Amino acid sequence: MNIFGITPSALSEYFISKGENPAKAALVFDAIYRKKATSFYDIGFSERVTEMLQKDFDFSLPQIIEKLDSNDTAKLLLRLTDGEYVETVLMRQKFGNCICVSTQVGCAMGCRFCQSGRLKKRRNLFTHEIVGQLMAIQKEFDVKVTGVSVMGIGEPFDNFDNVKRFCEILTAPKGLEIGEKHITVSTCGLVDGIRRYAELPHPCNLAISLHAPDDELRSELMPINKKYPLSELISAAEYFSLTANRRVTLEYIMLSGINDLPGHAQQLADLIGKRNFYVNIIPYNPTDADCFQKSSRERIMAFYDILKKNGIGVTMRREFGSELKAACGQLSAEQTK
Ligand code: SF4
Repeated sequence: MNIFGITPSALSEYFISKGENPAKAALVFDAIYRKKATSFYDIGFSERVTEMLQKDFDFSLPQIIEKLDSNDTAKLLLRLTDGEYVETVLMRQKFGNCICVSTQVGCAMGCRFCQSGRLKKRRNLFTHEIVGQLMAIQKEFDVKVTGVSVMGIGEPFDNFDNVKRFCEILTAPKGLEIGEKHITVSTCGLVDGIRRYAELPHPCNLAISLHAPDDELRSELMPINKKYPLSELISAAEYFSLTANRRVTLEYIMLSGINDLPGHAQQLADLIGKRNFYVNIIPYNPTDADCFQKSSRERIMAFYDILKKNGIGVTMRREFGSELKAACGQLSAEQTK
């Protein structure tokens, strides 16, 4: 088993099953995530325990095939042990280093504006392959990651258990200790997954890729809306916000003439009402098959103003990485094609 895929509780159980003190799990987490150990020989256990760990776990990380780096953004193309590829992105921001991780090879959801959605889903990533993206970034760029978006290739709630374990490993005390509020899981709208996520003891943040304020348009842009229409999605998002006592982010990519008109902004404000949601406006990033255009700055500002006037919290995402094809919706791991 790969050591980067094991949660603290599973590692404690492993030690118990071997007749060892479960407190050793915290020492392992401290060594691999804080002290950057690359082998069990670096931890200081007895020879017997070290050999046992060395036999039962491996330390391998995904192999870096390509590295692109430009000012505030970097992207790694990684090869997994079965020859599949994924991409992961680092954004160097004023307040820390954030990464965007992938959760699947390809994606089954087929959102029309998304390059990743053009690659059919090949498989889910294992927990260690998601954690491995973070570890590869930290090692390659010598940075400490302080924020994580689960927003790369794939739909996280279509790989729920591995994403859940990923969050447990990242937030574990004595490990990376990234706070729950610094990790955001973004879904295209799998309502069952949102409700299950809301009921976790310590969920991280939730973002929903909304991108349209009515069912007709949303179903055109995002096929998942035919299965889970807006009324069900909004009610699940509200359930999360009330259960976890957290504000939900609604991601909204601005597509010129499609979803960016003043009427759309008003519809969106009415849809949100008094709920504890806010809107993150994302400028569209061109992809290969472009039937969409970027909205003008004026159109975006008008949309922003209407939301504000209606008392809706709204932010505009800074554009990161479009020159590296590392921005939202642009990840593809082209080798997968
Ligand atoms: S936006 Fe997300 S869910 Fe939709 S196709 Fe792209 S990767 Fe999949």
